[in-house]
Amino acid sequence: MTVRTRIAPSPTGDPHVGTAYIALFNLCFARQHGGQFILRIEDTDRVRSTPESEQMILDSLRWLGLDWDEGPDVGGPHGPYRQSERGDIYAEYARQLIEAGHAFKCYRTSEELDELREARKDAGMQLALKPADLALPAEEQARREREAWPHVVRMAVPAGGSCVIHDMLRGTIEVDWAQVDAQILLKSDGMPTYHLANVVDDHLMGITHVLRGEEWINSAPKHQLLYEYFGWEMPELCHMPLLRNPDKSKLSKRKNPTSINYYRRMGYLPQAVINYLGRMGWSMPDEREKFSLDEMMAHFDIQRVSLGGPVFDLEKLTWLNGLYIREELDDDAFLKALMEWAFNERYVKEILPQVRPRVETLSEVVPLAGHFFSGLPRITEENFDAVKLGHEDLLRLLQFLVWRFEVVPAWHKESLLVEVKGLAAHFDLKMKEFLAPVFIAITGSTASTSVMDAMAILGSDMTRARLRHAIEVLGGVSKKQAKRFEKEFRELE
Ligand code: GLU
Repeated sequence: MTVRTRIAPSPTGDPHVGTAYIALFNLCFARQHGGQFILRIEDTDRVRSTPESEQMILDSLRWLGLDWDEGPDVGGPHGPYRQSERGDIYAEYARQLIEAGHAFKCYRTSEELDELREARKDAGMQLALKPADLALPAEEQARREREAWPHVVRMAVPAGGSCVIHDMLRGTIEVDWAQVDAQILLKSDGMPTYHLANVVDDHLMGITHVLRGEEWINSAPKHQLLYEYFGWEMPELCHMPLLRNPDKSKLSKRKNPTSINYYRRMGYLPQAVINYLGRMGWSMPDEREKFSLDEMMAHFDIQRVSLGGPVFDLEKLTWLNGLYIREELDDDAFLKALMEWAFNERYVKEILPQVRPRVETLSEVVPLAGHFFSGLPRITEENFDAVKLGHEDLLRLLQFLVWRFEVVPAWHKESLLVEVKGLAAHFDLKMKEFLAPVFIAITGSTASTSVMDAMAILGSDMTRARLRHAIEVLGGVSKKQAKRFEKEFRELE
């Protein structure tokens, strides 16, 4: 048997460090067994998936050196590797399931579903809806079918008993079927859900081992049942521990930068990031802290993964990055890294239009444009003295902007302007007044290049990190304030 693993990201946002972490372990597992590693894009959510996000995921995994043998960009014998291009395949497999009685068309409206759930809640029963709960009287089912009501396809699931899953790290996991609902397999727009597409593709693509995040454990019973229905052998499952913030909560962009773009722009070296991710729940047999991807592959053993939630700690990563800069880069390599990072034609050309109208000599360029080549600006509370806003208003303004920026779908100047204008109107401030503190937070000074352009160029994560940094410098948002702000912010929407 050839071992085949895969990473299956959904292109619905910034490239997440969690994706790189899972990709790394899949790659190492495959290589250790002389197998193959596949990249598949799971873009069945047509509303949230974007080509820009897909491109960023491919770029950042490549930057980290996580090369795949088959994928949407490199092709391969099991393509297409983008689920949005495989719609007919899923429809056919859903049809087969219906024919065999393992799935059924469900014409229930969302109001009816709510009522069914309410009724179960009131009766103190499990909320999972089973085929028998969803069934309509035969006549009504026939009428809705005849009148072509919108419908979904759901899978049949047992009413009771328990399901036993085998996990490479966790041994057996028992789940009560009572908790598992009649999962939707095809949505009303005919697109498959993750569950159907994932199982069908893992089978057709010959995946033998599925290493993925522990948040998918609850889906495993449904997947196992689908494999049984199809009569296919199920890949081995391995649910990896989730990355955590230092306070042990699940790594989230509200607390920590989670986008690989951020680490890249901050000037972390890909070797150091990979090394650090390799230490998330895993260690080399000799426990050394610094190792390369090749060394990790050579010594890989999945059983060395420990399940205690690995903490993604920026300080540790920064320390390790420093080691790499000092110990691994000679002058030539250092220069090369700097050039790849920001001193390259593409990036510098992006900045020139910002700089040209504002300088008279070339020597003014670096002081003026330094914020394009740095991380978090060195600012103190005093930098904000000239801003004519009360302390709490200042915090509120910065915090609201961070929250707004968290959900901007496409990061370009026009969409950022919409957010800024909307909030300025809300605070009853002129654009200039609104942008004054933002300017300081982003550029670290009161006179520099245009702040709107700077944010567009710096990107989402670096912009938000600088705004968050300014909030910290101003003393941070207290728990009480956070509650109040959140309420006000919700009312704004
Ligand atoms: N598309 C899923 C994700 O975004 C893949 C989960 C899996 O590996 O099965 O995480």
